[in-house]
Amino acid sequence: MKVYNTLTKRKEEFIPLEEGKVSMYVCGPTVYNLIHIGNARPMIVFDTVRRYLEYKGYEVNYVSNFTDVDDKIIKKASEEGVSAGEVAERYIAECKKDMAAMNVKPATTHPLATQEIPGMLDMISVLIEKGYAYAAEDGTVYYRTRNFKRYGKLSGKNIDDLEAGHRDIQVTGDLKEDPLDFVLWKPKKEGEPYWESPWCKGRPGWHIECSVMAKKYLGDEIDIHAGGEDLIFPHHENEIAQSEAANGTPFARYWLHNAFLNIDNKKMSKSLGNFFTVRDIAEKYDLQVLRFFMLSAHYRSPLNFSADLMDAAKNGLERIITTAENLRHLSENAAAAETAEGVRPHAEQADAASAETSDGPRRCQEQMDAVTGITDEEREFYVQTDVYVEKFEASMEDDFNTADAVSAVFELVKFCNTHADPSRSKAFLEALSARLTQLSDVLGIITEREEEILDAEIEQLIAERQAARKEKNFARADEIRDQLAAMGITLKDTREGVIWKRV
Ligand code: AMP
Ligand code: ZN
Repeated sequence: MKVYNTLTKRKEEFIPLEEGKVSMYVCGPTVYNLIHIGNARPMIVFDTVRRYLEYKGYEVNYVSNFTDVDDKIIKKASEEGVSAGEVAERYIAECKKDMAAMNVKPATTHPLATQEIPGMLDMISVLIEKGYAYAAEDGTVYYRTRNFKRYGKLSGKNIDDLEAGHRDIQVTGDLKEDPLDFVLWKPKKEGEPYWESPWCKGRPGWHIECSVMAKKYLGDEIDIHAGGEDLIFPHHENEIAQSEAANGTPFARYWLHNAFLNIDNKKMSKSLGNFFTVRDIAEKYDLQVLRFFMLSAHYRSPLNFSADLMDAAKNGLERIITTAENLRHLSENAAAAETAEGVRPHAEQADAASAETSDGPRRCQEQMDAVTGITDEEREFYVQTDVYVEKFEASMEDDFNTADAVSAVFELVKFCNTHADPSRSKAFLEALSARLTQLSDVLGIITEREEEILDAEIEQLIAERQAARKEKNFARADEIRDQLAAMGITLKDTREGVIWKRV
C-alpha cells in the first residue's frame, strides 16, 4: 500500500512500526462553535483511511483530540457569560452528534487538552532541561526554535527565510530570544482559566497538547499523523520540534494532509465567513450525502463545494442504496435451495465474505467454493465480481484514492442490477449483497435506509392518546407521550389541539 508522505514529498510503501497494528493521530477541532463542513473533511477522509486499514486486518489505535482551551473558546465564554469549560463541553457534544450522523467512528481515544496538563508540564520541563526551551521573565515558556536543527523538514521552509519574514509569524511578546521561538506555556490573563506550573499560573500553547497526547496514547514514535494542510506549518512543524527534541526519537513516520474544502475556490473558514456548518447541510441533506460528496474526490485534491455536486452525490448514493436494498429484498424473498447439505446460514456466509487476513480480504473464489446452493452459472457470475473488489482495493492502496474506489463500487452496482433478479438463488443474492455492503462499509456508507416514521403513524398515536385522556386513562396517555418522545417526536397541547414536531 502506497501513501503520500508530506515529510518526504512522495508516495511511499506503508510499513507500520509493529506488524498488524497502526497508531494514528488526527488533529481535532477547537470547540467554540458548531463545526463547519471544512472541518468535516479531515474527519471523513481519515475515518475512511482508518476503515480501510481495518478492512486490511490492521488493529488501528486512532487518537483525535478536542482543543478545549483556547483564546476563541475563552472569548465565546465571556460573550455568553459562562465558563470556558461549559462552552467546550457543549460543542464537544454537538461535534460528536455531527460525527455520528456522518458515520465517523468514535476515536479509540478522544483526549481533551484540559485533562492532559500534567503531561504537558512534564514535556515542557524536559525541553527546558535539554536546552530546547526557556522561561521568560513574565513566566511565558518559549521553544528555542533554532536549537532544533531539523526545523522546517516537514513544511520545507528554510529557517533563515522564516527569520527574514518573521513578521508573518504570530508574534506573542517581546520577551523571546528569537522571533522564531513559539509559546509552550503562557501566563493567564484576568478571568481566564489557568493551571499552576513551575513558571506561572497559566495555560498551554496549542502545539504542545498534540505532542503530549500522541505520546501518552500512542507512544514516542507513531505511524500516521494527519490533519488539514493548513496545519503543516506551523502546527505540525512545531509538534515535530517538540516531540523529537523531548523524546529523542523520530515522531511520526507518515504525515498525511487533506486539501481544503473550498467555496468559489477559496478555503472555507470561520474567519472568512464563507462557511456552512454541518448542521446547515443536515437541514437539506442526509449527512451520508455529505460524506459521499467528500469521498468523490481524492483527499489531496482541493474540493469545491456546490449544490450541483451535492445533488450529484445524492443521486449516486441513492443508486448504491437502492441496489443494496433490492438485493436484500430479493434474497429475503428467494427460496433457499434444497441440497443435501442445505445452504449455509446467512451469518456464516457473511463471515466468510468478510473474513480477512493481513494479506487482504479473501477472494471470492475461495468463499464460493464453500457455499452450496448456488448454480454453476451464479458461481461464475460471482467470481466475476472479484474484478470490482480488486479495482476498489487497488484504488485504496494507491494513497487512498476514494474517487476511483467509488467508481469501482458503481461498477459493482451495475453488475448487481444486471445479474440479480427473483430467479436467482438465495445464496447468490446474499453473497452479492454481502460484497456490496462490505465495500460500502469501508467508505462508511450505510446501505440500509433509516426506517421512516410516517406522519400517519404519529397521528394515529396522538389520536389514541387523546382518547386515553378522554377516558381519564392518564397512565396510558403518558405512555404514548413517552413512546413518541423515544421516536424523536415532541407534543405540545394547545387550545387548538395537539401540535407535534420532530426533534
Ligand atoms: P480547526 O478547528 O480550525 O483547528 O480545524 C480542525 C481541522 O479542520 C484541521 O485539521 C483543519 O486543517 C481542518 N480544516 C479547517 N478548514 C478546512 C477546510 N476548509 N478544508 C479542509 N480542512 C479544513
Ligand atoms: Zn495537532
